[in-house]
Amino acid sequence: MDYNALNDRITAAGATLVAVSKTHPEAAVRKLYEQGQRDFGENRVKEAEQKAAALPADIRWHFIGHLQTNKVKYLAPFIHLIHAVDSERLLEEIDKQAASNDRTIDVLLQVKIAREDSKYGLSPADLRTLAADYLAADYRHARVVGLMGMGTFTQDEAVTRAEFERLQKIFEELRSGPFAGRPEFRELSAGMSGDFLIALEHGSTLVRIGSLLFGEREYRK
Ligand SMILES: *Cc1c(COP(=O)(O)O)cnc(C)c1O
Repeated sequence: MDYNALNDRITAAGATLVAVSKTHPEAAVRKLYEQGQRDFGENRVKEAEQKAAALPADIRWHFIGHLQTNKVKYLAPFIHLIHAVDSERLLEEIDKQAASNDRTIDVLLQVKIAREDSKYGLSPADLRTLAADYLAADYRHARVVGLMGMGTFTQDEAVTRAEFERLQKIFEELRSGPFAGRPEFRELSAGMSGDFLIALEHGSTLVRIGSLLFGEREYRK
């Protein structure tokens, strides 16, 4: 799909396009960069590090994959937003590594909304517990700025719609409840190539789009 048309559509809805460049070469990133794109998403630590080192410094790198605690240190110097935090251990490590880099790292808590048995993400109950622990812990360098969710991979729009509706509701409950008074809690990362239009109808502020922009990947994760 044409980059400008896609970006205009997402921007008009008040959201930001995160171009998911995983598996695609630096040249593909550069091409979109030259058209004005600044937010890019990766899901492998090594690939993110290599691209960040080689590409312009004003790119905002988003880590959208599952992140192992022992790899946080490699991302900490440069990452803009970590989308998929699903444990207190990971949050603690991000806080620690952000502190040693003398910076604040923004993160999203990942909620499991899909029907399919996905390994990652918090149940709504575990999310509330982690949110409460985070607020009580008063971290200085890891900052929770919202939620992230992945819908079921399906053609059935009703399923997707119900999932994003639920995610939005959980988000609004936290925002007006425990996170009231934390204006930074305002990001909802939802929607991919196949379902971003539905996500935009349900309050998404960050859509993560890969194949629609770059074509199919060599491998999927
Ligand atoms: C790969 C990936 C995307 C992009 O998927 P497309 O269907 O190619 O748009 C979005 N979010 C996450 C978490 C991903 O791993």
